[in-house]
Amino acid sequence: MPEQYSSAGAGAADASRNVQTVGEVQSLISQKIELPSPPNIVVRILEAVQDDDSCFAELGKIISADPSLTAKLLRVANSSMYGFGGRVKSIENALAILGINTLKNIALSFIIVRKLQGDSSSAFDFEYFWKRSVTAAVAARMLAPLANYDSDDIFVSGLLQDIGVLVFFQHCTDTYMEVLTLKNSTETPGHLIERQLLGLCHAELGGALLKGWGLPESIYLPLFYHHREDCAPDRHRVAVDILNLAGKISAVYHSSQSRNNVADVYRALTDDYGLAEKDIKDLIDAVATRSNEVLSFFDMPGGDITPLSEMLQEANQELGKLNCSYEQLVMDLKQAKDESIKYVGKLLDANKKYRELAYRDELTGLYNNRYFQEVMDKELERARRYEHALSLLFFDIDCFKQINDNFGHLAGDVVLRRLAEQILQIMRGSDIVVRYGGDEFAVIMPETGREGIEIFAERIRRGIEEMTIPVDQAQLQVSISVGGATFKGKNPQVDKMTMLSAADKAIYQAKRAGRNRINIVEV
Ligand code: GH3
Ligand code: MG
Repeated sequence: MPEQYSSAGAGAADASRNVQTVGEVQSLISQKIELPSPPNIVVRILEAVQDDDSCFAELGKIISADPSLTAKLLRVANSSMYGFGGRVKSIENALAILGINTLKNIALSFIIVRKLQGDSSSAFDFEYFWKRSVTAAVAARMLAPLANYDSDDIFVSGLLQDIGVLVFFQHCTDTYMEVLTLKNSTETPGHLIERQLLGLCHAELGGALLKGWGLPESIYLPLFYHHREDCAPDRHRVAVDILNLAGKISAVYHSSQSRNNVADVYRALTDDYGLAEKDIKDLIDAVATRSNEVLSFFDMPGGDITPLSEMLQEANQELGKLNCSYEQLVMDLKQAKDESIKYVGKLLDANKKYRELAYRDELTGLYNNRYFQEVMDKELERARRYEHALSLLFFDIDCFKQINDNFGHLAGDVVLRRLAEQILQIMRGSDIVVRYGGDEFAVIMPETGREGIEIFAERIRRGIEEMTIPVDQAQLQVSISVGGATFKGKNPQVDKMTMLSAADKAIYQAKRAGRNRINIVEV
């Protein structure tokens, strides 16, 4: 989508006030955006299921021609979601047992996710996006029978309810980054900001896209209206409500605002669904375990969502371990005992704070070695999977012992702190800076190849060299030696040890070559 669409700004917003139907949204979009075309196989599947006589054989033929799709469908059919425990051996079996509509829906989900799964763009967190979408889809599917809604199309609507976000991001990146920034800084719901800046919201864009792709109304209309419940036609009202609540349940697991969401979800499940507290707890926990399973069907990372009740238990235990600094919080928690929802929220907050503390270096406030090890594992896995570049920088202060010896340990601490501040000013938002230990630091640089790491390493080296640090009466200056390892993402043999020891050797060479210099190697 051209940027002119994003700069349509206020004009587009005016137009949206009167927009009511999918058709109107489609024509508004068509003047501005070229929407992605549907994958060919989606068109064929939808055509096949329209023809009552031959659809069984035709659908089987289309799916069987795609081996990875076939393998995934069989895994799903044999999973605990359907409970046929290994008995479904072929697509024909699956069709007979699950039925055409269910199989069609599972196939469409896989294909559409595969088409939109993500490109190399580093600014958008696809993993988070799909994790959230899968959780919403699972929640929607579990809510449907409780609301007497008898259609498993709701899973696809749940899964794709936010694909408008992807399309916006891919076609008007700059404006959409602005939307995300405003969303985070003002805590205003994203769909309202989208309307203001882009003239329509992701729900409308997603709904119009799926209509254009020929998906059935029962999938695209609930999705289209899920941020404008009041305008939804009566026949889709229940589905829209399910999608909304499913989104909130997903947010319990994936949003920074989870505390408010827990309260909302409890309220809705009690008031609208008449569930008892124990059933609510079981439902929310089951959403996590099922989502983990579904994420693995999609071969997506992140299938490690901890069920809410386990999270709360963990938080309780962590709180027990923390002493004075959390004394006040624990007292607050005790006071809030009776107000169970408030209690849940505070525990979640405390858990988050505790995790945050556990990952920080006390002296500099940077991330610590523990965090480094976890992120490095994750980033390497991602780099290998998507064949993306990943670079690692190590740097170590030159002759730091002399500063301690000549000016004292406290002066040494001041230098470490100032250096950390300086690095944070130099780095990009996507890089992860850690204090590796002592006077050694590391920067993990996702999506960065040789050229990028060299420029960045030199910028850090110079930035430190030019810094003066007032300590007592003196103005101290320090230099660093920088060693880096860069990985193109192509070699599956490269592991964390390979990267660490390459960067370590590189730094050693830089020291040997006279210090205050950089040395980058490729692994
Ligand atoms: P090189 O150029 O070879 O790196 O020489 P160096 O003197 O910097 O030697 P090295 O990196 O081996 O020594 C690191 C020193 O950092 C040793 C230790 O006393 C000091 N150090 C480690 N942690 C801290 C800390 O938290 N505060 C202070 N002030 N000093 C620390
Ligand atoms: Mg040193």
